[in-house]
Amino acid sequence: MQIRIGNGYDLHKLVSDRPLILGGVELEHELGLLGHSDADALTHAIMDALLGALALGDIGHYFPPSDPQWQGADSQMLLGKVHELIQARGWAIGNIDAVVIAERPKLKPHIDPMRNRLAATLGIDRGQISLKATTNEKQDAVGQEKAIAAYAVALLVKSPGS
Ligand code: MG
Repeated sequence: MQIRIGNGYDLHKLVSDRPLILGGVELEHELGLLGHSDADALTHAIMDALLGALALGDIGHYFPPSDPQWQGADSQMLLGKVHELIQARGWAIGNIDAVVIAERPKLKPHIDPMRNRLAATLGIDRGQISLKATTNEKQDAVGQEKAIAAYAVALLVKSPGS
């Protein structure tokens, strides 16, 4: 069996007057993530992990912030496009493991809804997506609630017959 591994990282700044969207789920919070698209740092980290596994570059290459067509883009749609690139090359997702680092809000109640949303976007089983959350123990920008960060790794397997 042929396998490939990739990792991804993203961080977006927390500001007022923006929605907080993580893993395609909008969370109730007084702050939201700033970015050209919907600024879903978790989904962006996953996209970079998928691209990285096949040495396809990063999301900035496919969806540059300078391109107005990605203004306010739904990151689930972008994730779907990255998945198509992977599938077109004959690869399938084995599993994804991700961690979101946020001081607030508490992410635990939202973990399963996020896994469900990501699994639906990718057309894979929820069991193929692991998602964890932690805080930064009040340290640095993330710990001071100025930003939310996410890390992801993805394992790809060569589709049978390709
Ligand atoms: Mg990003």
